[in-house]
Amino acid sequence: MQLDIIKAEEWGLFADTTRPVVIAGPCSAESEQQLFETAKALKAGGIGVLRAGIWKPRTRPNSFEGVGEVGLQWMRRVREELGMKVATEVANVKHVGEALKAGMDMLWLGARTTANPFAIQEIADALKGADIPVLVKNPVNPDVELWIGALERLNLAGLKKIGVIHRGFSVYGEAKYRNMPQWQLPIEIKRRFPEMLMICDPSHIAGKREYVPEIAQQAMDLGFDGLIVESHICPETALSDATQQLTPADLADMLGKLVIRKIDSESLEYRENMDDLRARIDGIDDELLELLASRMRISDEIGRYKKQNNITILQPGRWEKVLAKVFEKGREKGLDCEFLEKLFKAIHQASIDRQTEIMSRD
Ligand code: PEP
Ligand code: MN
Repeated sequence: MQLDIIKAEEWGLFADTTRPVVIAGPCSAESEQQLFETAKALKAGGIGVLRAGIWKPRTRPNSFEGVGEVGLQWMRRVREELGMKVATEVANVKHVGEALKAGMDMLWLGARTTANPFAIQEIADALKGADIPVLVKNPVNPDVELWIGALERLNLAGLKKIGVIHRGFSVYGEAKYRNMPQWQLPIEIKRRFPEMLMICDPSHIAGKREYVPEIAQQAMDLGFDGLIVESHICPETALSDATQQLTPADLADMLGKLVIRKIDSESLEYRENMDDLRARIDGIDDELLELLASRMRISDEIGRYKKQNNITILQPGRWEKVLAKVFEKGREKGLDCEFLEKLFKAIHQASIDRQTEIMSRD
């Protein structure tokens, strides 16, 4: 379905919607003092929107699960006394009711919630009639349709101020990042909904504060609209996600160093050069298509010949040889083996499918 959305410029939430818009604040609101001091320091660094988790979805029980409703009052105080906008995560109908009552400026849905269509539907129903921006984090598993499904459920409930947060995808075992970026998924979201606000959460991708800046920079290089970053006045003592939070000063430092690339350029020379390069790419794509079609025609011929001679389609030895040759030549040309394997496996599979079709014909 087409989404009917109101662009972030019209939400009245971000003072300036030129990239990057930045939302920052602690993983969790822990005490009135911790929240207020963090907010004050962030505001001094130019941050206009404060995030803080009030109800925390923790992997295991007996961890700090958030301060609950009282935290909303602290958020209100930040809003009134510092003039910041405030945002929190909601994960069920009760949270929605309390967050709306407390006058939150924006809500977000967490990764574990997005993975559950029942929960999303209940939240969408509870939000009916509310004119509040809602950001939807990607589900923990790399499923773009599930992510879009959550956006559609909100939109069908009448919410038009919707956007997405990319926070990476669960990994099994040891990996550099806590959650793998798998950038192709947010890129697909942007392709389908170019108007929608797309924010990156480098904190939950990185898992360690030292990796937060590199992820934030990659998001800027890819043209994300903004960042939501976890920041705590004293990260080492944080009750949740202590390893990935930045001090407000480190956040300001990171933001100051980010290279912000333009989405496009007005320069005639740039445009002409780009048009030329793109025309060459388009030409090569045409040639690739021609070559693929010829390869398939020969593969069909092989299929018919195998059938006449009563030979099986699969010839494993042959496939191994093809792949080995591809890797060897590809390496000489500076091509990545993993990419070549994916590409040639897809081509090989398509050939097999066509030969199977030929075999099954009378
Ligand atoms: C959070 O933003 O603190 C949070 C719980 O994030 P996620 O849903 O991405 O795990
Ligand atoms: Mn967190």
